[in-house]
Amino acid sequence: MKHKTLILLIIALFLVTSCQKSDIVLSDSSDSLYVRKIDNLSDDFIFGMDVSSVISLEESGVVFYDFDGNETDLFKILAENGINNIRIRIWNDPYDADGNGYGGGNCDIDKALAIAKRANQYGMKAILDFHYSDFWADPGKQMAPKAWKSLPIEEKASALYEYTLESLKRFKQEKIAVSMVQIGNETNGALAGETVWMNIIYHLMNNAAKAIREVYPKALIAVHFANPENRDAYLDYASKLAYYDLDYDVFATSYYPYWHGTLENLSDVLSHIAEKYGKKVMVMETSYAYTPEDTDFHGNTISDESLVTKNYPYTIQGQCNAVLDVIDTIANHTKNGIGVCYWEGAWISVGTGSWEENSRLWQTYGSGWASSYAKEYDPKDAGKYYGGSAVDNQAFFDKSGNVLESLKLFALCRNGNILPVKPDAIEDVHVSVNLGDELIMPDRINAIMNDNSHQLVDVEWDKDDLLKINTDQVGDYLVKGNCENMDAVCHVSIINFNYLSNPSFEEDDNGRKTPNYWVFSEYGYANETYVEEKMTDSLDGTKHYHFWSDNAHQIRFELEQNVKELKAGQYRYSISIMGGDVADGSIYAYVKMNDEIIAKDDLQITSYNNWDTADISFTYNGTDSISVGIHVECIGANNGAWGKIDQAILNYMGE
Ligand code: CA
Repeated sequence: MKHKTLILLIIALFLVTSCQKSDIVLSDSSDSLYVRKIDNLSDDFIFGMDVSSVISLEESGVVFYDFDGNETDLFKILAENGINNIRIRIWNDPYDADGNGYGGGNCDIDKALAIAKRANQYGMKAILDFHYSDFWADPGKQMAPKAWKSLPIEEKASALYEYTLESLKRFKQEKIAVSMVQIGNETNGALAGETVWMNIIYHLMNNAAKAIREVYPKALIAVHFANPENRDAYLDYASKLAYYDLDYDVFATSYYPYWHGTLENLSDVLSHIAEKYGKKVMVMETSYAYTPEDTDFHGNTISDESLVTKNYPYTIQGQCNAVLDVIDTIANHTKNGIGVCYWEGAWISVGTGSWEENSRLWQTYGSGWASSYAKEYDPKDAGKYYGGSAVDNQAFFDKSGNVLESLKLFALCRNGNILPVKPDAIEDVHVSVNLGDELIMPDRINAIMNDNSHQLVDVEWDKDDLLKINTDQVGDYLVKGNCENMDAVCHVSIINFNYLSNPSFEEDDNGRKTPNYWVFSEYGYANETYVEEKMTDSLDGTKHYHFWSDNAHQIRFELEQNVKELKAGQYRYSISIMGGDVADGSIYAYVKMNDEIIAKDDLQITSYNNWDTADISFTYNGTDSISVGIHVECIGANNGAWGKIDQAILNYMGE
């Protein structure tokens, strides 16, 4: 009987283990995702995913679906797609006095433990990210936990040591496989309220490292910074860590392709540090948008309006290619590169109904980036702008929780998944036409292909859209087009072209007497005549032409520009002036043909910011030599006459 039970137990145990293993089947192909092969990926190359908000999301009702459309544990989906490490942020006490969570997943140690367990269950190790704060820590803020706020540095260091030790012991007791522990998050010159390197490294980081080595001697110790585009700052961080002799293994960085410089710079900076200090390096946070659309009624960091450098389209394929390039950079172009971790790849919308509906969930479960309860701890940022996810369009899941094909990139990049090269996105085209000119639409435009190469492709423009365009009137139009069954857009602008060069003196350096493209002729003896850079005194841009003279010196000069290659037709010339303290004078704008003035318009200077604009309409025959200009002649009152000239315009007005 005993014997039988034992056998049954062994069989049961075998079934459980084998079942769990056979449960995880790696994605091995895709019909729609082009994945180039990344060479030299070691078996233990870290494909990390931060999903710190997951429990709050699930509590808010979010569910995730695998590629077959089955509701599935997020961690299983991640493991099946090649993720081997789960990164988890840890905040000391992300709650107010009444126990309301600050949001951002309310990531305390209990949440971190629960997440780590589920990661382990599917064979993924945990990367623990201690922020040593009660809420978000990044280059903009590194606030001390409430409990440590008024502690002197030595006591803060002991508190940090004890906290790290006790937290890690809980992981150890639960037999959690931890691959790496981070000392602080994006600690660009600050940590837990300290801003002096001796306090940050010698007192705080050293104590963290000590605790980590005691509990998890085999785990890697990582430091983590942001803004690798600032090379000097990075070299400084690394040298400070060495100076205070911090015991660490991995120098990690955030790398968001929109903001953090080129991949060449990334590999260069990291390689330099890896080589000089004998450290491993990795990208601890990266992400890329698969769509410009917001899906949770809380605005995103990235949208079509974001002023960012964009090397990949906001498509599922674009997201894949952006991450592949980061992986390739770390695996093949960076010394001692050990991995790449994607940030919050599952932080999707908690609902599709309305802001009000979602807001209630963010407040209750902490599933948005911050709740209103964070106000007491972070009044300037979270207290004002609390709400949902700002990265839902950078997840690997759509707003309903369906996994996106791009998640397969991690499993597929070891062998590649090469498909026929075809357009993935069409770049918008901009065409501007001078008033009255013929509109010429491009017949081939730029496509971004699924392998991220660029190719010209044929386009057919919508005939109805084209018919709506009137080139005899200033205006903006959108013309839709079709490119190999993809939508194309051309932005057409009918502009009133200014035929003058350097018309507002913006091209000149401050103090330049003869502006670029202009002829300056002086017949008087003014004390000051030059281009001045001063926005408040300019009508257009930041510069204008300035003059002043005391009463002993007469002002008398002309600024004139010769215009070449002008077609015949009706034109309008204008120029503006302001100034004051004139006793007597004659100021006028003029048009000259073959050196003879053919039209004039008088101008007055009266007082500060009272701009007077000359307006001259004339006909041009297309062959005569033509110049436009301004004549300034005056004697001052009071402390002498002065003035500012700006915004010369020469427009074509029709035949
Ligand atoms: Ca959003």
